[in-house]
Amino acid sequence: MEVQRNTKQKQLILSILKKTDRPMSINEIYADIVVELPKIAKSTIYRNIDSLLQQNLIDKYHLKDNEIFYRIKADRNEHKHLVICDDCKKVFDLPSCPIHALENAMEEEGFIIRNHQIQINGLCKTCARKHQIK
Ligand SMILES: [Zn+2]
Ligand SMILES: [Zn+2]
Repeated sequence: MEVQRNTKQKQLILSILKKTDRPMSINEIYADIVVELPKIAKSTIYRNIDSLLQQNLIDKYHLKDNEIFYRIKADRNEHKHLVICDDCKKVFDLPSCPIHALENAMEEEGFIIRNHQIQINGLCKTCARKHQIK
């Protein structure tokens, strides 16, 4: 029974993340979940999210002032890196992952790569223009 209920909660988290297709903080996820499951505890959500991370179904990002955000993976083998604007905090996708070739080279050396992170931040086009005007 316990397993079944956890699965349902995970499905709900996944469907919330799928609907938005942008990184969501735990508070945003929580706000959406309580609508469906009013009695759910935040610790339960954390537990489900940890397990989704282990299943490789979602990605974790440290954005803004190091707040943690989660985003659903479109494909288990595909992942996206984000570029963040320091000013308006808007999030953009990096067109592709530049690391794969490097990873393959390392794996040929026998190194097993489990994870990598890239974080790029700066100014978006709109904010850059505002800075130039000043
Ligand atoms: Zn901006
Ligand atoms: Zn990558």
